[in-house]
Amino acid sequence: MWQHTVKKEISFVGIGLHSGNPVKLTVKPAPADSGICFQRLDLAGDAVINASMHRVSDTALATTLGQGDVLVSTTEHLLAALSGLDIDNVLVELDNDELPIMDGSAAPFVHLLKKNRKVQKVDRLMMKITKSMTFQDGDIEVTVKPFDGFKVTSNIVFDHPVIDSQSYTVNVNFETFAEEIASARTFGFLEQVEYLRANGKALGGSLDNAIVIDRDGVINAEGLRFGDEFARHKILDVIGDLALLGCPLLGHVIATRAGHTQHVAFMKMLAENQECWQLVHRDENGFENVLDKVVMATKAAGKKVLPFLLPPMPATVQRVAC
Ligand SMILES: [Zn+2]
Repeated sequence: MWQHTVKKEISFVGIGLHSGNPVKLTVKPAPADSGICFQRLDLAGDAVINASMHRVSDTALATTLGQGDVLVSTTEHLLAALSGLDIDNVLVELDNDELPIMDGSAAPFVHLLKKNRKVQKVDRLMMKITKSMTFQDGDIEVTVKPFDGFKVTSNIVFDHPVIDSQSYTVNVNFETFAEEIASARTFGFLEQVEYLRANGKALGGSLDNAIVIDRDGVINAEGLRFGDEFARHKILDVIGDLALLGCPLLGHVIATRAGHTQHVAFMKMLAENQECWQLVHRDENGFENVLDKVVMATKAAGKKVLPFLLPPMPATVQRVAC
């Protein structure tokens, strides 16, 4: 399986959901093995952050990456679009601190990115789950099981008749992601939105970029895009956050009541539990265990062999550098 980037620069203009700030974002081609990097054009110097779980600085309302004074907020929907379309390497430039929320889903990103994928004839490194693992925090759970592909299940429970309990499962590929998940919008409760605004958040939020629910139901005149749009959107968030692993996952992830905080904690736990996964390349003959090969070759992989530290070696230098 080959890596992908984009054919040309693709720009999006919008506002940040929480900041309300206008922002222009441009997705640019990047070399194989460079991963996904964000660059703030409005800051002096080389304000670059790589899309890694080790750069997450806040998960309260969205997934924010930070390094020093450089912050990039609400990364999850663009990262989901890139991950869902198997795009591995891009430089994302933006001229403010929060990505544009667009219509509250990943559909506007997917619409343009899907037409502009470019294959890079370099093997894709993947994290293949070989043993189940569960992250648990009270009644919140994120489990991963071995599966020959990338499958995500979301189970959510809200004490509201419009949502109640919902579950959705998707076997993620280029087509299913675009058709079943990409257009599911983010959502919030009216009371919560009022509270957030009073605290300087959700300033860019409106019925144009979120599903808003009051006591009686959905306020948006157009209603829902899917009856289970809420569970589908949670899958979008899972896919976006898991892109921060640094390489695609081969396994079945089951997220129950989880949010950004638990997604990141789950990834860190997974990176530590090396007996649960292998780093592999897949060719026509099946999988090749890259990690074993590297360990044997170097005989010194260290105590914590994290995905982003692993080969191809030129990528190690670039990814750590940004
Ligand atoms: Zn979301």
